[in-house]
Amino acid sequence: MGQLAGRRCLVTGAGRGIGEAIAAGLAAEGARVAVLDLDQARADAVAAQLPGGAIGVAADVSDPEQVAAAISAVEAAFGGIDALVNNAGIDTNASVVDMSLDLWDRMIAVNLRSVFLCSKAVLPGMLERGWGRIINISSQLAQKGAPDMAHYAAAKAGVIGFTRSLAYEVAAKGVTVNAICPGPVDTALWRAIPSGWRERKVSELPIGRPARVEEIVPTAVLLASDGGAYYIGATLNPNGGDIMV
Ligand code: NAP
Repeated sequence: MGQLAGRRCLVTGAGRGIGEAIAAGLAAEGARVAVLDLDQARADAVAAQLPGGAIGVAADVSDPEQVAAAISAVEAAFGGIDALVNNAGIDTNASVVDMSLDLWDRMIAVNLRSVFLCSKAVLPGMLERGWGRIINISSQLAQKGAPDMAHYAAAKAGVIGFTRSLAYEVAAKGVTVNAICPGPVDTALWRAIPSGWRERKVSELPIGRPARVEEIVPTAVLLASDGGAYYIGATLNPNGGDIMV
């Protein structure tokens, strides 16, 4: 029996990268997992590889109607959602001087508004059952900042503020809300960043390399489990030593 046996989990942006790895890690611990991504075919393909009756669901996490429909569909299929991992995210690069309002707004919508929308949608069921886990994937850049990523860092810092505030609201009702702040992780998102930026970032890391996606998974499994019950509004930092707190 895995430590998540009987738990029903939803991971956003789980069609690839960190989200796919977290979905696999939760399923390996016995959870039934809903793989949410923009692309239904990719979500289905990831779900088909997972044990435990995983399903795929498509939605743009920045869109209120699509989020409501997707979460209703998962709740209908599973009978409820015990753990939500708000992982879906995008990355773009521009200095503030050159940044368009559209680029800024899209970043805030996908990386921050989504966390509000998905959390709000799953909370009533969690509060009714008196048990829930919300795990928000922020970033070490929220804590440290970085050139050409002011919009990304602002969105991810907003995720931390949201995490702490929601944690106050629901901790005594059996629902924990926490954030994970990974350092660089070797995914498509990371590889799309200009090489000079990536080389500078890696040179700042005591460990001297980006993480593999599997190195973020144990933190998510801990926070999703009964063993994570005493983490409230925390930010856990698998970041290669970039920030030591
Ligand atoms: P990734 O490889 O680009 O995967 C992100 C996934 O999210 C993709 O499957 C993507 O679908 C999906 N997605 C994007 N926008 C979406 C939307 N609006 N609605 C639903 N799904 C959407 O990225 P990753 O590196 O695994 O990153 C996952 C999370 O970790 C992000 O929140 C990211 O900010 C955070 N993070 C990453 C790093 C890093 O260095 N990689 C470090 C710290 C934090 P499409 O492919 O169809 O766009």
